[in-house]
Amino acid sequence: MKCLVYQDGHREIVKSEKLTPTKNECVFEVKACGICGSDLPRVFNGTSYYYPIVLGHEFAGVVKDSLNSNLIGKRACVFPILPCKKCEFCKKEQWANCVNYDYYGSRRDGGLQSELLINENNLIFIPDNVSYLSASMIEPVAVCLHAVKKAKINKKSKVLVYGAGTIGLLLASWAKALGAKTVEISDPNEERLNFAKTLGFQGYSGGEMDVIFEASGVGVALNDAIINCKPFGEIVLVGHGKKDVNITHQNFALILRKQLKIYGTWNSDFKKKVNDWQESIDAISNGIIEPEKLITHKISLKDGDKAFKIIEEGKEFYNKITVVN
Ligand SMILES: [Zn+2]
Ligand SMILES: [Zn+2]
Repeated sequence: MKCLVYQDGHREIVKSEKLTPTKNECVFEVKACGICGSDLPRVFNGTSYYYPIVLGHEFAGVVKDSLNSNLIGKRACVFPILPCKKCEFCKKEQWANCVNYDYYGSRRDGGLQSELLINENNLIFIPDNVSYLSASMIEPVAVCLHAVKKAKINKKSKVLVYGAGTIGLLLASWAKALGAKTVEISDPNEERLNFAKTLGFQGYSGGEMDVIFEASGVGVALNDAIINCKPFGEIVLVGHGKKDVNITHQNFALILRKQLKIYGTWNSDFKKKVNDWQESIDAISNGIIEPEKLITHKISLKDGDKAFKIIEEGKEFYNKITVVN
C-alpha cells in the first residue's frame, strides 16, 4: 500500500500493512483525491493534529473489500466527518458542528493513499456517469452548495464572488445554476481571473450587488464587499484567510446603514432530508455543475509530493490539484 506521509514538511511514500474489513468499515481503494487549501498549513506550517499524517479529505474511489458483499465494487465518495452521534448537534444531524468528531484527512489519516478503512455510513455512492475525478470534488461542491443556500438567489439576483480559487468558482457555478441574473468574479490575480473567464464568468463590472460571496478570506475583499453590496443585500463569508480580518469604522457603519445580512457558513449538510452531497452528485451527473473543469493538475500518487511542490514554488498556475491512483 502506498501513501503520502507528511511530517513537518517532509514528504515520503511508505508501505504499510494489508487492510481487512471490519463490521462497520470497508477497505476503500482511493482513485482520486483533491488537495484543499486547508491541507497546506498542515504540510507547511506544522498545524496538523499529529505527524506523520496522511492528509486528504476530498476523495473518491471504489469499495475493495467489505463484510457486506453487496458493497464490493461500488464506486463512491466519502463524507469525511465521523460524528460522535451523542451531542446536541448530532441529535439534529448537524454533523459539522459535532463537539467531538473525527475527520478523515485531519484528525485521522485520509485519502492521499492507495487504500484505507472507511466507515460504511460515510460512503455516498456515485452513478456511472460521474468520473472519479468529478467525484473527488463533491466535498467542495457540497460545501459551496451549502454556502449558496444561505442567500436567497433568484432570477433577479446580481451576484458577485470575491476570489477565483476552487471555492470561488464553485460558488459562482452554483449561483449560475440557481438562475442568478448575473454572476461576476473579482480577483486581483490576473491569471486566476482569466481562468474564471475561460469557464464563462466575467470580471466585476462595478455597481451594487444583491448577493456577495466572500471566498478569499482577505480583509480588503470583505471591506469591498460591504461597499459593493446593495442595501438589504446579503454577504456570505466562505473564505478562511490566514490573518485577522478588520473592518473599517466607515464600512462597519455601512453594514448598519444598509441593513446588510451577513452569514457564516461551515461544511455541508449530510442529513436524511437535506443532503448537500446527494444534490451535488445529481447536479454533476446532470451536467449542471462541472467540477472536473477546475482540475488543472492530475498527479499520480507515486509522484504525489509534486502536488505540494507546485503549490510551494508557486511558479505555475494551478486551480485544483488532484492526486490520482
Ligand atoms: Zn477542504
Ligand atoms: Zn456529536
